Amino acid sequence: MATGFYWDERCFWHAGGNYALTLPLGGLVQPLAAGGLPEGPEAKRRLKSLIEVTGLWATLDTRGAAPADREALERVHPAAYLDAFKAMSDAGGGELGLRTPFGPGGYEIAALSAGLATAALEAVLRGELTNAYALSRPPGHHCLPDWPNGFCLLANIAVAVEAALAHGLARRIAVIDWDVHHGNGTEAIFYDRDDVLTVSLHQERNYPLDTGAAADRGRGAGLGANLNVPLPPGTGHAGYLAAFDRLVAPQVRAFGPDAIVVASGYDACLFDPLGRMLATAETFGALTRRTRVLAEDLCAGRLVLVHEGGYSEAYSPFCGHAAVQALANSAIAAPDPLAETAARRQPGAAFDAFVDSRLDQVARDAGL
Ligand SMILES: [Zn+2]
Repeated sequence: MATGFYWDERCFWHAGGNYALTLPLGGLVQPLAAGGLPEGPEAKRRLKSLIEVTGLWATLDTRGAAPADREALERVHPAAYLDAFKAMSDAGGGELGLRTPFGPGGYEIAALSAGLATAALEAVLRGELTNAYALSRPPGHHCLPDWPNGFCLLANIAVAVEAALAHGLARRIAVIDWDVHHGNGTEAIFYDRDDVLTVSLHQERNYPLDTGAAADRGRGAGLGANLNVPLPPGTGHAGYLAAFDRLVAPQVRAFGPDAIVVASGYDACLFDPLGRMLATAETFGALTRRTRVLAEDLCAGRLVLVHEGGYSEAYSPFCGHAAVQALANSAIAAPDPLAETAARRQPGAAFDAFVDSRLDQVARDAGL
């Protein structure tokens, strides 16, 4: 068995603009790369390119997927939202939430993005693949059932998790989100549930401004099945690994999942325009290795990484490659061209100790 890699060229065509030069978008007209929002296709397309060039691609089981169908989407999103999204998409695109513009065919591309995550999780749970990566775009972790925000139009991971549960492929699933932003959508969707653990590592007071507190542990039956680990700006490699080892891994172990899904954004990297963290490509490799080992210990290795943010077009692909390499347990690396710079920019022992003290506070606030 191999590591699966799910992707579709059309996910790179999601665009908020309505034209490529003067050609109306739709059908076979590919949008131009230059766009207004940072959530452009290049960081993601360049990850796929890098994986091809290093040769890692040839070792992966590369696959496409069908779009998530209406039944799958309705497990998370109200019919009225899907109808409005589809109608606006058919009419040429628009905006239904906050910073989520889409062009003609945006609905179909978003459904495809959710479909990649859904197919990846299903194949891993059916034992067809060791584990898998879904290069989903648009991203999903901010999307609420009826309100798209933060570049996210459909809740990709939630759709995948609900499909797996509905099909009886798993009973308990843990979601770990290391995108620099709080996974507010995933959290909200499963906030009352005890069958899905949601854990988010994120930069405090980034996006969204009003969610992601350590005291938010879930509600009702879901109390204790949500954990937020807000981290101070400047947290680097050592701080991320400490947060994972001290807070994330024990929660996931205690939960005892049948599978682990990761919301894998790379916007905590030190060159990202939307984050103020100092993670490096090696950080994402190390986080993925730890999660792979955790999955091997807890759930026969059943692990799926779903791509979320990451807006440094130049550096994010190296972060993603390190993650995919670690997922595949491969020796094929894409050496970080800025490894020395990245290492020298780490915050240092004094700040790492400060992060440790903040993790103590998170544990207290979370009642751990
Ligand atoms: Zn993000």
